[in-house]
Amino acid sequence: MSSRRELLLEEIGLTPLWRLKGRETGEQGAEGHFAVPSGGGEPAASRPATAAYDRAGHIACMDWPELKLAVAACTACGLRKTCTQTVFGVGDERADWLLVGEAPGAEEDARGEPFVGQAGKLLDAMLAGIDLKRGENVYIANVLKCRPPGNRNPEHAEVAQCSPFLTRQVELIRPKLILAMGRFACQTLLDTDASIASLRGRLHRYQGVPLIVSYHPAYLLRSLPDKAKAWEDLCFARSTMADLRVQA
Ligand code: URA
Repeated sequence: MSSRRELLLEEIGLTPLWRLKGRETGEQGAEGHFAVPSGGGEPAASRPATAAYDRAGHIACMDWPELKLAVAACTACGLRKTCTQTVFGVGDERADWLLVGEAPGAEEDARGEPFVGQAGKLLDAMLAGIDLKRGENVYIANVLKCRPPGNRNPEHAEVAQCSPFLTRQVELIRPKLILAMGRFACQTLLDTDASIASLRGRLHRYQGVPLIVSYHPAYLLRSLPDKAKAWEDLCFARSTMADLRVQA
């Protein structure tokens, strides 16, 4: 088996749990070789990280189909037990713009797509304000791929397990600009505890990709005064994109 395939199967929990019985014991079933579980049955994605199993390293080698499969099969944290389905991300896989939110809410959990509830409607309107449209040169993803129960805040361990998926999405998309929306997206991508207020209005970088910080659309629904600041952030993002295109 190619090591790439082996890595993917390990990530989704199918190897090295299975081996051909006859090979080690000399036994063979009537039909020839057959597979039996050789391990404890615990999925690879839920095992603790060890030197022998570099989970983030495996995810970092995946292509789109492998990554989608790995996210759908992931049980690395408890959230998969309580959510309806994973929410991978949506949009143009070669987009210049990558928008990153926090985690699916109830409607996203039901429909399997990020930002389709009330916050999503506001996000679509914000995008329209700078002549952008969901799916057209725009990709939308979340830090967490599973909905936290009752929309509670993501826990540190959940973010740690899930963020290699987002990292790989960024590497595969190779966007020109990331717009990180809300505290969790900003703090996760920038690896900081700093507030959004202190991070706004400057160009940051995530793995070399320019990144701009703004408020989360769900927060803006509750805090009208900060909508004006979010509009400033979008205008800053649009002018930054124009500069990046000139430089390219
Ligand atoms: N909030 C988010 O951060 N992401 C979604 O997909 C929906 C609401």
